[in-house]
Amino acid sequence: MADNETELKVVEIPPTVGVRELADRLGISPVELLKALIANGIMASISDSIDYETAAIVAEDLGFSLRLEGAAEAEAAVAEAQAVAEQAEAAAAPEVTVPGVPWYLVGEDEKSLEPRAPVVTVMGHVDHGKTSLLDAIRNTHVAAGESGGITQHIGAYTVSHAGQPVTFIDTPGHEAFTAMRARGAQATDIAVIVIAADDGVMPQSLEAIDHARAAGVPIIVAINKTDLPNARPERVMEQMAEIDVVPDAWGGDTFFVPVSAATSAGLDELLDAIVLVAEDSPPLTNPKRMALGTVLEGEIDQQRGVIASLLVQSGTLNRGDTIVIGTQYGRVRAMFDEDGERIKVAGPATPVEIMGLSDVPDAGSRFEVVANEKAAKALVAEREDATRTTATAAAGPMTLDELFAKAAAGETKTLNLIVKTDVQGTLEPVLDALERLSGEITVTILHAATGDITERDINLAAASDAVVIGFRSHPDGPARRAVLAQNVEVREYDVIYKMVEDVADALTGMLEPIYEEQDIGHAEVRAVFSIPRAGKVAGCAVTQGIIRRSARVRVMRDGAELATGSVSSLKRFTEDVREVREGFECGVGVSNFNDFEEGDTLVFFVEERVR
Ligand code: GDP
Repeated sequence: MADNETELKVVEIPPTVGVRELADRLGISPVELLKALIANGIMASISDSIDYETAAIVAEDLGFSLRLEGAAEAEAAVAEAQAVAEQAEAAAAPEVTVPGVPWYLVGEDEKSLEPRAPVVTVMGHVDHGKTSLLDAIRNTHVAAGESGGITQHIGAYTVSHAGQPVTFIDTPGHEAFTAMRARGAQATDIAVIVIAADDGVMPQSLEAIDHARAAGVPIIVAINKTDLPNARPERVMEQMAEIDVVPDAWGGDTFFVPVSAATSAGLDELLDAIVLVAEDSPPLTNPKRMALGTVLEGEIDQQRGVIASLLVQSGTLNRGDTIVIGTQYGRVRAMFDEDGERIKVAGPATPVEIMGLSDVPDAGSRFEVVANEKAAKALVAEREDATRTTATAAAGPMTLDELFAKAAAGETKTLNLIVKTDVQGTLEPVLDALERLSGEITVTILHAATGDITERDINLAAASDAVVIGFRSHPDGPARRAVLAQNVEVREYDVIYKMVEDVADALTGMLEPIYEEQDIGHAEVRAVFSIPRAGKVAGCAVTQGIIRRSARVRVMRDGAELATGSVSSLKRFTEDVREVREGFECGVGVSNFNDFEEGDTLVFFVEERVR
């Protein structure tokens, strides 16, 4: 692809053009053009006609920029100018967050917003029937496509219920949901919590509810497996009411719908409930803007190269659009719907598969369409700069200290905690003690349970800016890896008063870091040299431990401290070195100190943060 749009040769064509004619206008051989078409997945013959968008994409590969003939050209120019202005505005404030407003609607004028189809995620305990329910809804409510009803797995599907579209994310479970949230996605509008009527509320049911609540997503409970003889739907309702998820039928505000994925009973009622909840707080979109949304999946396909499943959340995605995901950009070369049909346009809440990226994007990354390649490059460059400047700052979630700093600055008034304890007997007193700390800053417990700290807990913390408190509970293996990757703070305690003291300190801003000095090595001064411009250097023997260039050093004479400073030079012979071990000789310079004497002892130490 040419590096700059202005270098492309501009050629005008009508809205549809024959392959032979297009080749003529471009001044290339028809065979060359056919090859380029095939490279873009279009099997055309020389006598076929192709449309403008297809021609434009292929022509760009060949070094041309196509324009529509006549009046359409002026229109396109106006649209492009608007798009550039819109993009400039968006680029000026790329990461704005407004509480309660999803990222893809930030800065939108209310007048330009319209309701869109809700996007639903199905969560719940293992084996309660999440996958079966998703399959049953799809089988009973997706109109068989013209392709003969062969559906593809593209991360989500849309059904039509009483004329209303509803989109389901077809990777069930709160693990995927929260992992995506941790990457910044806000793909879900409604969570359906599946609970098997024969099994009742289980630990992962509770977890799923906490994850949905932490995301601020409304919940609908699907009581599944009601076909079984030992199904006890009322018991599920009672158990849920106990944890404050009160059925609508009992005066609460959560819909409970008995269903059976096995017999498809109750599916219409479940969809009714989804439509009602969506009407209550409609998910919005600005259909006219350039598309914004979330990557649902990414993979490499042997034949087609990098394939990404996207969920358009605001705006409209068009074939040919330039799309930016993180720090990569590409062009939407081909776009497919869930039936594998080639499509040109995808509106809000539509899942699509696209070709045209060079790297596999992560599920949960945000994508956005920009006006052209130049805007894409500018946005990517800006992001690369931003990552460079913040690379040293802790990326991702916040520590207790940072959370406090934000609270003090008035940016947040809550401290989100995830609490895991060893046994049920300790859970209540621990929660009680923590909740009692709420004052000017509210302590919000996003999730509390017994057992090890798991990867799901860490993901939830990362997605919700929370700190994990382990009371006689520790991270398991995968959780430890997730802690490192996501930079989540985990604090472990085994006495309640210590935990209370610590969290209280954090809340009042008293949690100053405490450093302790640790001796790492000693050296004895055997000779003193004068080095021009560098002052005095002590020729030493390391008598104990190890001494480091990065350490601090105390100069001692007859047991008294003469000076403390940093190491200004450390050499073995003429070479600069980072460290010298016991038994070796070296030259040491100490910042702002020139009065070494033979027999002085240099004590090297580091400061370790103990809290
Ligand atoms: P998931 O782990 O939550 O995705 O659960 P699955 O969808 O894999 O279902 C677990 C098991 O429960 C499977 O053997 C299903 O056939 C069965 N199952 C799911 N839904 C129903 C239902 O409504 N009725 C009955 N009888 N079995 C079901």
